Amino acid sequence: MTGKKILIIEDNVLNLELTSDLLLAHGFTVASAQTAEEGLRLAAEILPDLVLMDWGLPGMDGLTATKQLRANPVTCHLTVVGLTAHAMKGDDENALIAGCDGYLTKPVDTRTLIETITRFIALTPLLQTSQNPSEIKHYAR
Ligand code: MN
Repeated sequence: MTGKKILIIEDNVLNLELTSDLLLAHGFTVASAQTAEEGLRLAAEILPDLVLMDWGLPGMDGLTATKQLRANPVTCHLTVVGLTAHAMKGDDENALIAGCDGYLTKPVDTRTLIETITRFIALTPLLQTSQNPSEIKHYAR
């Protein structure tokens, strides 16, 4: 997975640093944004292999930002994993409705984060090389 690009969109600086340090230590390239607006701009610019999207952000929230990523032809194919602090009932459903490929609850489990991210990235080429990616992606979500 060395060199895979992860974009972390997270307004909590401690969570951002924790996640970022862990990914860097495992050979990932990391970009980060503390607002959805900046995250959307960066996503279109660097086309990361995976976006970690916090739900609770100042201004535009993570679910709305995910919908916007999906609505933009430049970023619609990106793998997006939601991050929620709440683990509220229905969060998983909301994540899927918004177009996330999955979601993680915070605090992030540092023992499984790398494995989880690696698994999500490994799934992406299967989705993208399909004859009818939109249909496959629909099922995958
Ligand atoms: Mn937050």
